[in-house]
Amino acid sequence: MQAVLTVDLGAVADNWLLLRDRAAPGAVAGVVKADGYGLGAAPVARALHAVGCRHFFVAHLTEGVAVRAALGPGPMVAVLNGFAPGADGEAGLLPVLNGPGDVAAWAAAARAKGRQLPALLHVDTGMARLGLTPAEAAVLAADPARLAGLELRHVMTHLACADDPENPLNAQQASRFAAIRARLPAAAASLANSSGMFLGPDFGSDLARPGCALYGINPTPAVPNPMRQVATLEAPVLQVREIPAGTPVGYGASWTAARPSRIATVAAGYADGYLRSLSGRAVGRIAGRPVPLVGRVSMDLITFDVTDLPDVVPGTMVQLIGPGNTPDEVAAVAGTIGYEILTSLGARYRRAYRAA
Ligand SMILES: *Cc1c(COP(=O)(O)O)cnc(C)c1O
Repeated sequence: MQAVLTVDLGAVADNWLLLRDRAAPGAVAGVVKADGYGLGAAPVARALHAVGCRHFFVAHLTEGVAVRAALGPGPMVAVLNGFAPGADGEAGLLPVLNGPGDVAAWAAAARAKGRQLPALLHVDTGMARLGLTPAEAAVLAADPARLAGLELRHVMTHLACADDPENPLNAQQASRFAAIRARLPAAAASLANSSGMFLGPDFGSDLARPGCALYGINPTPAVPNPMRQVATLEAPVLQVREIPAGTPVGYGASWTAARPSRIATVAAGYADGYLRSLSGRAVGRIAGRPVPLVGRVSMDLITFDVTDLPDVVPGTMVQLIGPGNTPDEVAAVAGTIGYEILTSLGARYRRAYRAA
């Protein structure tokens, strides 16, 4: 008996199509870093490609190689964290150049090869994380010879606060981005992540880079989620035991039955990405009926109070993520964000892909 993670590739495709329609006339990429936000980069990338996605972003070189293998030649696969010239072998990946050193290394490689090398240029407009600083971008703009040999496919920046439409940093970043682009050699622009796509016309660009929304996370936290849910996680009951009132359950004896109770022990735990901070707080669902998680989440096991559901037996599946328990809702209970719930999902599930 094993937990099952079901990934609805039709919902991923629908989510991308919704975003594509929003972004028009701009294009929309698919961000499939971190193994497709935990749901499987290869099947997700193939499902996106099948509905027309032709630009993909990953964080690591190895992720890019895997996505290229899944897609074959053709679509753009860009590596956000960058990589050294030649390190992608035959995979044909595009580096994101994040600093003057990256620009110099790729320009030198282009000279050595005697041909143009395609790349993306990342400028930092307000995150102080990755990308050329405004001062570094100004140096490049003043001396475009430093870009000789590079075919800039996109100039990109990343929004720090796009999920908070009221934050003034959003508009500041958009205007800094426009100012920097005006000084650099002409290239297509890439600005918005998922939430940025909902901020308004100033945040449109030639290529949006949504990730989380493809996987069902709400890009507009202040209003209802326009995206379809993608992930369902169900884990089996291993045992059901009757305990008298006063019996403690689990590590630390953190919960004690107030009444004679039936406790269902379920095969999932924090090693599977069911975060320990859900201890004593989460609610599972059995055929739609809520069951409270009681006691601590342990590494491989969790316990639910099923006193009121007499039909629960070993083998009954408890839904941990799904309708009524979306990644965003589970995250709210755990004190984190839906992104962390999805990317924490472990390797011990059977993964079932529902075809698009
Ligand atoms: C992760 C990432 C994205 C996607 O962000 P979401 O919030 O998941 O839509 C886009 N651009 C960059 C640079 C990223 O790192």
